[in-house]
Amino acid sequence: MTSFEYFAKTCASIEQIPGSLEMTDVIAKLLKEVTIEELPVVTHFVMGSVFPAWSDRQMGVGNRLLYTALSKSSGVSEEEIENIIRKTGDIGETAVQALSSNPAGQSTFSAFTEEKPGMEIKEVYERFTHIADATGKRSQSTKIKNLQYLFNSATPIEARYLARLAIEQLRIGVGEGIVRDAISKAFDTDVAAVERAFMLTNDLGLVAVAACNGGNEEVQKLDIQLNRPVKMMLAQVTPSIRSALNDLGEVAVEWKFDGARVQIHKKGDNIHIFSRRLENVTSSLPDVVEAVQENVNADTAILEGEAVAIGEDGKPRAFQDILKRFRRKYDVEAIAKAIPLKLNLFDILYFNGESLIDNPLRKRRELLFQNVQSNDRILVDRQVITDNEEEIQEIYADALRAGHEGIMIKKPDAPYSPGKRGKNWLKKKPLMETLDLVVIGAEWGYGRRANLIGSYALGCYDPDTGKFPAIGKVATGITDDKLAELTTLFSDLIVYEAGRKIELKPEIVFEIAFEEIQKSPNYESGYALRFPRLVNVRDDKSPEEAESLERIGEIYHSQRS
Ligand code: ATP
Repeated sequence: MTSFEYFAKTCASIEQIPGSLEMTDVIAKLLKEVTIEELPVVTHFVMGSVFPAWSDRQMGVGNRLLYTALSKSSGVSEEEIENIIRKTGDIGETAVQALSSNPAGQSTFSAFTEEKPGMEIKEVYERFTHIADATGKRSQSTKIKNLQYLFNSATPIEARYLARLAIEQLRIGVGEGIVRDAISKAFDTDVAAVERAFMLTNDLGLVAVAACNGGNEEVQKLDIQLNRPVKMMLAQVTPSIRSALNDLGEVAVEWKFDGARVQIHKKGDNIHIFSRRLENVTSSLPDVVEAVQENVNADTAILEGEAVAIGEDGKPRAFQDILKRFRRKYDVEAIAKAIPLKLNLFDILYFNGESLIDNPLRKRRELLFQNVQSNDRILVDRQVITDNEEEIQEIYADALRAGHEGIMIKKPDAPYSPGKRGKNWLKKKPLMETLDLVVIGAEWGYGRRANLIGSYALGCYDPDTGKFPAIGKVATGITDDKLAELTTLFSDLIVYEAGRKIELKPEIVFEIAFEEIQKSPNYESGYALRFPRLVNVRDDKSPEEAESLERIGEIYHSQRS
């Protein structure tokens, strides 16, 4: 069994390492040292998550709750805790300072003052599980009590990383890329095999266990599984229909529906629906569940499609309306009536016990078409296979006339590549490209708008480190109502404030229009945006799906050529 202190010390040493190669070595060593039971837990912990992203189990600990728990554990007032965080800018350091200050001579600081055996990783994980599983009226106090127990058993270095883990903000610069490489290194397994298994299972903890148990052979056995979402295949932008034809030859053309993507897992009448972020959204979409139950002819299946809300004019409604459906936890039936969804299915990944992802699109499409009864709630829409540019132009014009986004141009013989944004799926839209960027900070407004957030700091994503290097700011400058709505959206994500500046938990993605990307020493990413404008809040995307640093570099270079 491994102590949590050992994990905490490893985190502290990783924080001092500048290069990702050396970091990979340290993590590989850690993964080799822990027991097989601890392995999946540690794999997630080093990335700052407690449970796999797709799991129904989530921590549900915000900053406020953590401050309360810290206050109760230390006897330091919540106000004082906020003062400390303003000075230190780090919840870990704040926990250490609060717990060591011992204001009222409380008797709970044994770990800070005496030698004691400390906690095991397993115990911390079990407490976190209690915290995640607490529901109902008393859930807040159950969460606080468990956090209190952990803080009062912790040594200072443990408290530092416990606090950061509790809000899933470990910040040691370790992301999926480094962990993937570390698994490969620790258990002598091909990086490509580890990567593929991750895309299929969405769970590096599971992949680490397989690698440990039997290297390449075990990792290659990992496959799609019902009710565990598969990372979605994505599209690249094509500058023109001509260039798509040059790239792919004969192509399969479909409308690019304007809605929200869903991945649907069916086992008999048991249906699970996952959003673009691979979160389980089944309970918000009873009408989609019913449409699948009634019209999909399969014992088991994994299907993908776009859920579209059609307005009275027959055109798709605003994206924000669809998100209202996805987010809704109460009065679900009423909102389902007000904003009915129509499901446009475009792919099938699994059918009656067999994975289809290595089958060509043509074959998958045929199976999909044969096994779905289309009607006004569910539809396998037209797909045209052609190499005729004019014909494709017409389909494109039709899609735009119908109020949809444009077209998808797919390679008919390509397999389904989980998690890949490759050339086998291309998209053509009329709009200039926008960037999806993560909101990492903000500033309060001035004067009348002092209680509203006036501007947001944006970051792109670095998959190796899991960090969000800054790339610029966007001022929202819209109506007070809109500003208030956005301020509320971010209120639970405030990590700390210093003067007008706010640091935010990177959680929400903005779609940003811009004039140009420029090189800039002012931002950590090395780039800046000219004239950024907020187009949409992309609640359907997770921060890890924001534009990568590499992609920003590509766009910068493509502008110049
Ligand atoms: P965008 O903002 O353009 O939707 P994105 O990053 O969300 O981009 P992409 O992979 O670039 O996603 O584009 C494909 C998306 O288009 C899918 O995720 C899906 O939501 C949507 N879509 C609509 N119609 C189709 C279709 N027929 N086939 C595949 N995807 C479709």
